[in-house]
Formats: sequence, C-alpha cells, structure tokens
Amino acid sequence: MKKFQSLIILIRKNKNIIIINYHYKFFKDDEKMGKVKKEDIMSILETYDKENITIATLGSHTALHILRGAKQEGFRTAVVCEKGKEVPYERFGVADEFIFVDEFKDIVNDEVQEQLKAMNAIVVPHGSFVAYAGLSNVEDKFNVPMFGNRDILRWEAERDKERKMITESGIRMPNKYENPEDIDKAVMVKFPGARGGQGYFICSSFEEFQEKIEEMKSRGWINDDDVADAHIEEYVCGTNYCIHYFYSALKDEVEVLGMDSRYETNIDGIVRIPAQEQIEANLSPSYVVSGNHPVVIRESLLPQVFENGDRLVETAKELVKPGMNGPFCLQCLVNDDREIVIFEMSARIDGGTNTFMNGSAYSYIQFGEFMSMGRRISREIKNAIEEDRLDVIIT
Ligand code: AMP
Repeated sequence: MKKFQSLIILIRKNKNIIIINYHYKFFKDDEKMGKVKKEDIMSILETYDKENITIATLGSHTALHILRGAKQEGFRTAVVCEKGKEVPYERFGVADEFIFVDEFKDIVNDEVQEQLKAMNAIVVPHGSFVAYAGLSNVEDKFNVPMFGNRDILRWEAERDKERKMITESGIRMPNKYENPEDIDKAVMVKFPGARGGQGYFICSSFEEFQEKIEEMKSRGWINDDDVADAHIEEYVCGTNYCIHYFYSALKDEVEVLGMDSRYETNIDGIVRIPAQEQIEANLSPSYVVSGNHPVVIRESLLPQVFENGDRLVETAKELVKPGMNGPFCLQCLVNDDREIVIFEMSARIDGGTNTFMNGSAYSYIQFGEFMSMGRRISREIKNAIEEDRLDVIIT
C-alpha cells in the first residue's frame, strides 16, 4: 500500500483563502487505471457549461502566455501551482483561480481533477505538465478534457518513435549511428538520463568516444545505464532555429507562428573564449537550455519550413490518429547547403514560444494582431465552441 497526502487550497480573486480539501488517500502500488478514452472525455465535456469554460494549466513552462492568451479570448483561467511558486501568476494577474498542490505531480490526484472539472476546465498540456504529471499518468489517469492529442505526447518522448515520425515524413534528420565503432566523422552523443543537455559531447572516432565517456562518468554527469542508452548522431554544423507551428485541426491548416534559437549553457559561454584559452581551460561543453532568443529565418527558406510542417502533419495523421492538433515545434539546424535538418520535435507547445508572448513577426503577418501561441490555442477553442466542434480538438 502506498500513502498519498494532498492539500488543496483554492484562492479566489479577493484573496480569501478557502481550504477545499485536506485528506489522505490510499491505493495499492500495483493499481493500474485504464487508458483515458476519448469517449469518456467526450461524456465529461457534455456535462460542461460551454458558456463558462475555464482554460487551465500547470504553473510553469509557458503558463503565462497560455493564461494571458485565454483571457484575451474571453475565458476564465486557472493555474495549478506548487505552493510558493505562484508569484508570477499572481503578479502578472493572469489567473482567476489558483489550485495549490504540495508538488506539481499532484495535478493528477483525483481531488485536483474534480476541482478542474467543476470549473469546466480544458487543460493545456506543456513540457513541464508532461514531465511532472508523468506520461503514463496523462495517458491512463488524467480524466480531464485536454487540448490536443494526448496520444501523440509519447511520440516526442521516445527517440525511436520521434525518428520514425520525422523520417517517414521525408524530412532530413541527422544520420544515426547504431554502433560507436562506426564513428567516422564528427558526431554528437546524447543521453536520455542526463539532465538537460548535460553530458552530451562531440567526438570524431571510437577512441575519442571511449575517452569522453570516461570523462563524463568521472564528472558524475552520466552513469553506466546512460552509456548503454547513448544515442549517437551526425554532428550538424549549422545555425539553430526552433520553429513553432500551429496545426488547426478545425481548418486542416498549418501555420508558422514564430521561431526562436536556444541559449545554452555552457556551450554559448565557451564560444566566447578565444581558441587558445579554450584549450587551456579544458572545459567540457554542455547543452542545457537557459533561455531563448527570438529569431527570423532567411525568407527563401520559408518554403522548406512550411513543407516540413505540412509533411509532419500528414504523417502524424497516419501514425497516431487523429494526428497533430495545435502547437508543435521542429528544432533544426540550417547547414551551409541551406538545408533544414531536424534534430528534435515537440508535439505540444514548446518553451521557445515564450519569445513571442506579445506576438512574433510571423504571427503578426498571419493575423495582423499580437498573437502568442497561448492566445492561438484559446482562439482555436473559442472557434470550436462556436462551431460546436470541440470533439475535434479535445482528447
Ligand atoms: P537536444 O537535447 O536534442 O535538444 O539537443 C541540445 C542541443 O544540442 C541543441 O539545442 C543543439 O544546440 C545541439 N544539437 C543537438 N543535436 C545536434 C546535432 N545533431 N548536431 C549539432 N548540434 C546538435
């Protein structure tokens, strides 16, 4: 038996604190709930008052513009917050309701789910939501209507699935090396267990691979389990663009809403050191995202940008029905052949959308108004309510 404790406090706008629920919950470790079914979510949605929908998310990642965008589109908003982490949502005034939890992962607890459903909440998933709630819980246990296709989240989380979706779309990815002994040119070595991009390294031969593995282990950045899962791919020398798309399932259309490039520690610090001093300093690069820059891409590359988005959307329809739904992101490097090489995808809102909370060059061209990704999501929900087609965009 496992014991769970949860404290949930609901704060209304007038700042009165009402304790809604405080109790212990018991269930067996091996208790396994059924997979969340679309029909069940649709039945819940039927009980909702469509005139009073609340847009809710977890207080982290991209919550600020998800919530601000929802308010701009006329919705009430709610944030599920870890106690002590509410400051940005209070100070920026983006949330009408706060549901406090001891830990982010408690968003999947039954009491929180009931609170959300009582608010007619549609939850917008983001990277931290999936990470804290746990992918299996989102798939099996979280019975609250969610924007997007919840089944596609696994396709971004598992490297083989991600590669299958991208390569079956005919999109160029860095070549993958099955065996370190085959390394014949610069490669990047990635580890699933490593924190962020810490422990990633570049090498050009099997001998160098072995040396660097030992070095990373001695730094404590990776362990033997990580080594067994090492992912080796061609190093693409190019410039970084993370392209933020929105697929409107209502209109069957792919939009490009913005782009960012990553600001990564410590690689972006190392390149500020002159070559000679770099050698003497003997620093190992890491690729942990610490921020994002807004960026625009050379206009002649935009046809490739749209083509990649369109192709991925078509493949996703085949591989994981009903396919993409809402925001997705392709992270790429552009090489000197002006070829866009995709090394990663997000099948939900990506953190880099924070660079255009007030709109981007592209979203302005598209909409003629300040359109963040968060606002675009709520615009889609609003349109679906008006057209009585929420079933198309909710799972
Ligand atoms: P990832 O964890 O896959 O998002 O990679 C972290 C960072 O490593 C990226 O933001 C890029 O700067 C860099 N990177 C990833 N894959 C490659 C690659 N194949 N070639 C060159 N740089 C890469």
